[in-house]
Amino acid sequence: MNSLHAGIGMTSARTRGRMIERLRTQGIQDEVVLAAMSSVPRHVFIDEALSSRAYDDVSLPIGHGQTISQPYIVARMTEILRNSKQLGRVLEVGTGCGYQAAVLSHVAKEVYSVERIQPLYLRAKKQLFDLKLRNVNVRYADGTSGLSDGAPFDGIIMACAAPALSDALKEQLAVGGRMVLPIGTQEQYLYLFERTEAGFRETRLDAVKFVPLLSGKT
Ligand code: SAH
Repeated sequence: MNSLHAGIGMTSARTRGRMIERLRTQGIQDEVVLAAMSSVPRHVFIDEALSSRAYDDVSLPIGHGQTISQPYIVARMTEILRNSKQLGRVLEVGTGCGYQAAVLSHVAKEVYSVERIQPLYLRAKKQLFDLKLRNVNVRYADGTSGLSDGAPFDGIIMACAAPALSDALKEQLAVGGRMVLPIGTQEQYLYLFERTEAGFRETRLDAVKFVPLLSGKT
C-alpha cells in the first residue's frame, strides 16, 4: 500500500466498513459485491489531497477532466452485471483511475479494461499492479467499438455515456451475457442489455450522470 495514504485515519478499514453499511441502506444486497468493495482500498486511487473524501458517496476528480464514479454507482453496476453469478471474462470501457476495474477483478475471472487517456491508463495500470490484481488487463485504446481481441465477453460495463449503443459492442457480448452502461447526452439513463439466443432484451434503469464517451486516443 502507498505509505502516504496508509497513515490517514479517514481511509482506515473502519471508514470502508461505514461505506459498506451505507451501500446496504442504499439497497445493494449482493454480498459478493459488498465484499469486493470492502477489500478494495478506494483511497489509493484518488489524489492524496482528496483522500479524506474517498469513502464518501460522491464522484471525485481524477484529472484530465474525468471523475471516479461514486461508490453507489460502482456497486449498483457491478451488482446488475453479476446478477448473483460468478462472471467469466468482463470488459470495462473507461478505466479512469482503475477503481471499478479493481472491484470487477474480485467478481470476475478475467477483466479487460480500456482507457483512451494515456496518463490515466499508465496510472491505473501501475495502481492495479501494485495491488497485485493480476487478472486485470488494462489497454490504452479507444474503446468505442469495444475490444475485439478479447471478445466475446460475459459482461460489459461502460463508465462513460454514449448517445446510443454501438453494434460493435453488442456483437462482443456473449449469448447469456449482460451489459450495463449509461446512454444519453443531456439526459442519461443506465441500461441493462441481456443477450439471449433470440436477441437483446433492454431494460432502462436509473437516471445517471457520466462523463461522455469520446473517440480517439490522447
Ligand atoms: N471506471 C472509472 C471511471 C472513469 S470516468 C473509475 O473507476 O475511475 C470514465 C473514463 O472513460 C474516463 O477516464 C475517460 O477517459 C474514459 N473514456 C471515455 N471515452 C472512452 C473511449 N472511447 N475509450 C476508452 N475510454 C474512454
